[in-house]
Amino acid sequence: MQHTGVVKQCQICGHKKLDEILSLGHQPIVQEYLTAEQLKEKEDTYPLVLMRCSKCQLLQLSYVIEPRKVFPRAYPYRTGLTLMLIRNFEELAQSLYSSGHFKKGDLVVDIGSNDGTLLKPFKARGARVVGVEPTDAAAVANKSGIKTLQEFFSATSVKKIKKQYGVARVITATNVFAHINDPSSLVRNIKALMGKESVFVSESQYLLDIVEKTEFDTIYHEHLRFYALKPLVKLFATHGMSLVDAERIHAAGGSIRVYAAVGKHPLSARAKKLIRAEERAGLYNEKKLRAFAHKAYRAKTDLLALLLKCKKEGKSIAGLTSSARSNTLLGFCGIDNTILDYSGEKKGSPKIGLYTPGTHIPVVDEARILKDQPDYLLVLSWHIGPELIKIMKKLGYKGKFILPLPTPKIVS
Ligand SMILES: [Zn+2]
Repeated sequence: MQHTGVVKQCQICGHKKLDEILSLGHQPIVQEYLTAEQLKEKEDTYPLVLMRCSKCQLLQLSYVIEPRKVFPRAYPYRTGLTLMLIRNFEELAQSLYSSGHFKKGDLVVDIGSNDGTLLKPFKARGARVVGVEPTDAAAVANKSGIKTLQEFFSATSVKKIKKQYGVARVITATNVFAHINDPSSLVRNIKALMGKESVFVSESQYLLDIVEKTEFDTIYHEHLRFYALKPLVKLFATHGMSLVDAERIHAAGGSIRVYAAVGKHPLSARAKKLIRAEERAGLYNEKKLRAFAHKAYRAKTDLLALLLKCKKEGKSIAGLTSSARSNTLLGFCGIDNTILDYSGEKKGSPKIGLYTPGTHIPVVDEARILKDQPDYLLVLSWHIGPELIKIMKKLGYKGKFILPLPTPKIVS
């Protein structure tokens, strides 16, 4: 059992030698937005350091925060608000349906099911569906007819689901498989809910994308591990399962979707091809990973220099969007409320009226941007930058945009 606090051994293989690759300093929990009252209080921060296991080569954080702190009941994220994810899940359900992985009446279980968005297209194709979700998003799901247990996925959840619904034909875990502490017991619990014909599908941010695009802002305390395929092959094999297939998808700025089954099965050709691409990109090479870290440190200096230059010229800068990953970027680069006047979010976002953790930037309705017309907009969701820029121009924003990564640049 992996404890919270400092990670003393590899989360997959138990090896005790972990080497530091990239340090993003001490950072607060990225989803812990603050009220005006809370700004007067002390704020907790935790080390945010990427380590590498010298044996199985898994990249993982150096410190694990207690899950209830990272995923409070009132966790503000709602999957259903992200159009790209809705499309992604629709595509996943259709692909599993047409390849015969489930049919009408089969059970589909989603771990970390949030507001039930993933399960909806499965239900629409006749599957029985059950979600497991610890935050209050579970209530939103239940209200919209997606049966959801409000709890952390555990051996107890497995017992409950099996007793009431039977074995799952499909188990999904999107953007949670890297979040749950103790991957070994996680895989054991998943396996206990599967039969011989079942498939486990997981989507996680992909280390290859992170390294290729210098996406270090996807590193925050929710993500305990950053997956490449080799350590995953090992993880499943240790528990009598096999990683059978893998594909790259666009979700969350570049993710890997992996398929695993119970028993021994060969790895698909396209997964083998991906492993070769990972090797070429240096994911299994300490020197090349350190070069990635240097790129991140360089990006920080360049971005900060650019923003300070604009400030010195007397220009105003606001942020566009506010998210977990933008809080890593702001916190690591030291971009606070003395640099950004505020950050604009879409109307209806639960973050409006609150302040960003650590950097204390007010989050406002994006209508404010159109009213104030700040000289520059820092595009914090830079991975969908071109799309956001188009939207803001159409809405009538007349200033310039700053894209922060992979190399900071001004776009008019
Ligand atoms: Zn290891």
